[in-house]
Amino acid sequence: MKIFVLVKEVPDTYGDRKLNLETGLAERSAGDVVLDEITERALEVALSYADKNPDAEVVALSMAPESSTASVRRALAIGAASAVHIADEQLAGADLGLTAEVLAAAIRRGGADLVITGNLSTDGSGGVIPAMLAEHLGFAQATALSAVEISADSISGTRAADAGAQPVSAQLPAVISVTEALPDARFPNFKGIMAAKKKPLEVLSLADLDASADPAAAPRTIMTAIAEKPPRAAGVKITDEGDAGNQLVEYLVQNRLV
Ligand SMILES: Cc1cc2nc3c(=O)[nH]c(=O)nc-3n(C[C@H](O)[C@H](O)[C@H](O)COP(=O)(O)OP(=O)(O)OC[C@H]3O[C@@H](n4cnc5c(N)ncnc54)[C@H](O)[C@@H]3O)c2cc1C
Repeated sequence: MKIFVLVKEVPDTYGDRKLNLETGLAERSAGDVVLDEITERALEVALSYADKNPDAEVVALSMAPESSTASVRRALAIGAASAVHIADEQLAGADLGLTAEVLAAAIRRGGADLVITGNLSTDGSGGVIPAMLAEHLGFAQATALSAVEISADSISGTRAADAGAQPVSAQLPAVISVTEALPDARFPNFKGIMAAKKKPLEVLSLADLDASADPAAAPRTIMTAIAEKPPRAAGVKITDEGDAGNQLVEYLVQNRLV
């Protein structure tokens, strides 16, 4: 079974995240970057299956700037057998639609039985790439899974719904996305880091893919406005002189918080 896991480098949520006020794009070099934790969890789901099924091949796939090689290598150090990195200047600032089209073309080229992704990235937070991919590939989709069972020809799992847990299952080929309820990824050890240097890492450009996507065409997503986040205003301090409860209620009502 060939499993593609989508991995994505994102600005570290513990650091300052900045937007370029002219382009509206994230300043990806403004601070530290990390492999998105949710994509590491997706990788762990694939590796846990591969541990018990030696015929399973796990490929990490990323569409990211050239500078993201270290993050792609981290996926190899964690345990992916090989990686595909789509790096092309024409894709800088790609929107959700273009991203899904290009990722789907790379998956089609590699031939996958199963695609595993995070449910939502911590930078764009679009949360729709997995569904878009399934549509492009003509695969079944089971998104936002908090538990996953993979077998030779199907997947099953649980999706948290408002009123409880929804059991879902699908025949392969399928695209699944996982939530933070799934376990953390294993930590890359020294042996894994050394092995990662020798594992295949294929770097592709848009021209290598059979993608009809044309980044130069009119943008599909149009940004209408962008502004710096206003500085945080000082909070209101309530000193209890016997009427703190009332003051609190007034504050909540005035600010339409109840
Ligand atoms: C070189 C480059 C630069 C970009 N710069 C910006 C920018 O500055 N500002 C901006 O707003 N957008 C930028 N984008 C687009 C953005 O990063 C997202 O890839 C895209 O919009 C998908 O949105 P999302 O991650 O919110 O999707 P979601 O649907 O939230 O992602 C769900 C899951 O899909 C997978 N996934 C998503 N994107 C990728 C990817 N690119 N590669 C591999 N797996 C992925 C991950 O597993 C993720 O957990 C850039 C894209 C590229 C390729």
